[in-house]
This record gives sequence, C-alpha cells and structure tokens, in this order.
Amino acid sequence: MLQTDDLTRYCDDHRQEALEELEAWLRIPSISADGAYRADVRRAAEHAAARMLALGMQRADVLESKGHPVIYGEWLGAPGKPTALVYGHYDVQPVDPLDLWASPPFEPQVRDGHLFARGAVDDKGQVVMHWEAFAAHLRTRKSLPLNLKYVIEGEEEIGSPNFDDFVARHRDLLACDVVIISDTPVFSEDVPSLTIAVRGLVNWEVHVDGPMLGDQHSGLFGGAIDNPINALAHIVAKLKDEHGRITVPGFYDDVRELEPAERAEIAALPFDETAEAKRLGVPQLHGERGYTPLERMWWRPTLDCNGIWGGYQGEGSKTIIPA
Ligand SMILES: [Zn+2]
Repeated sequence: MLQTDDLTRYCDDHRQEALEELEAWLRIPSISADGAYRADVRRAAEHAAARMLALGMQRADVLESKGHPVIYGEWLGAPGKPTALVYGHYDVQPVDPLDLWASPPFEPQVRDGHLFARGAVDDKGQVVMHWEAFAAHLRTRKSLPLNLKYVIEGEEEIGSPNFDDFVARHRDLLACDVVIISDTPVFSEDVPSLTIAVRGLVNWEVHVDGPMLGDQHSGLFGGAIDNPINALAHIVAKLKDEHGRITVPGFYDDVRELEPAERAEIAALPFDETAEAKRLGVPQLHGERGYTPLERMWWRPTLDCNGIWGGYQGEGSKTIIPA
C-alpha cells in the first residue's frame, strides 16, 4: 500500500506557498496573440524556469523557437527508469471583453474557493500542479521512481505555429516513454479524468456571391434572381439531416465505431442530461440519433457553422437582394 501521509502533509504545509507562486505567474499577461505583450510572454517563461529550478529540477531553460520561447525542464535522477514528458503552455488568450470579467484578468482573486484569473485553468494552473507534485515527491521522498521532463510552450493559444519545428529540432532532448498533457477539462471536480483523444479541427469560410451588378431591389427582382443568403442557408441546412447525421459524402468513412465496453464506461459516468441542458440554457440537448450526448461530444465527429453574415447590416431594413 502506497504511503501518502508524508505527501499529504507536505501539500497541506505548502498549499499557500504554491498558491502564491501560481498567482505571481498569473499576474504576468502572457498573451501570445498580441505583439504588444511579447516581452510579458518572455517574462512569463523566465519566471517559470526560475520556479522550476527553485523546486529542485536539475535543469530549466528558456529555449528559443521561431516565435515565443519554450520552457524546458528536467529531473533525470532515476537512471534506467521510464521518462515522462509533461506538456503544457504558459501563454493565454486575449482578455476582451473586459467588462465581462468580475475581477481584472491579471489580478488573481479567490472566490468561493475558486481562483479566478486569465490562465488559471488554461494552462498555468495545471502546469503548476505538475511541478508542485514533483517538488512534493522530491522533498519528502528525496527521489522519484521515474524521470521527468517538462516542455511548456508559449504559442498554444495561437495554434502552436512553431512548435512542430521546435520538437523536430529537439528530438533527442524531448525523447520520452510517455507524454502527459493536462490541457483538457476534467469531468467534474470529484471525478479524476483521463483524456485519451482530442478532436482535430478543419475550417472553411464559404462565400456565396449575388448579382455582379451590385445589390438589387428585392421588390423588383425578388423571384427572378437567386438570393445568395437564401442559397447559403440552403447549403448550411443540407449539411445535416433531420436526425443530426452529417450528410457530407464520405464524412464518416474513417470514424471507428465505439466498442460496447467503451459505451458502457461512458454510460457509467454520473451525467445528468436534463441538468446539463438547464445549465447551458437550452430546452434539450441535441445531436446525432443513436448516440448519447457524451458519445456525441467525445467520440463522434461534428460539423458546425461558427458564424454567418451577409446582406444589409444597418439599422432597420433595406429591400435588397444582396450582391
Ligand atoms: Zn490550453
């Protein structure tokens, strides 16, 4: 039986210190998308590397990429044992609109036992959890039963444009037996969760043009010219049938069906469909027939329209068939 008393005691004793360290990191506005924060992004990387060294890692460096820097840390004190690589990111999303924040995004605040700040749960909080756990083990047990590497990037929120190149150039440095990523949600606060796959993303922007001559009066030409907004609505409407199944030919060709055991595990989770619909403010959950909401969210591919615009956008109405 694993003895955890010493670890629990360490965590209790160091909880406040860990929280304060996380808050200090959260105060650095490491917004990767906005060039005005470039120096802050680097400062966040340097701050993290210093903390990792202070916690007992053998190495923690701020390495250059073609964009924002990457933090690399390691503790390789268990020769012959497996090596786990922890991936995370220290950059954050922009904070607009500011008036929707209950407290300023870069001034961490604890409310009802939850810490609020930009990056608190995506992904600085998780990264801190990993290195504090490392420190707890190292300081109580003096060693770890495996080797640890950390790679914390600064461009995840902008699609990691330079990360492939970084990984390719540091192949040997990053070599490991298993990669651990904590940049995904947990099912609930009291259900520990293992994410075994994530969705990929492909997107298109589709333009449908109307009359080349320009906007035409709908009272005069309605019924004689195809309206591009109507045409686009038809296209969007036909992407799914009435049972929520996507109608694009070949769309499901390479999708593996769920195994009965997988379905049983998903079904065993305490998920309340009615409560979730209420929480989201929708009359009911909706989706592909034959699958539960969790199966549709976690397993089935989806197709969604993220925005649609066209025609007259000003105040009131204007009788046009838009160009
Ligand atoms: Zn993230």
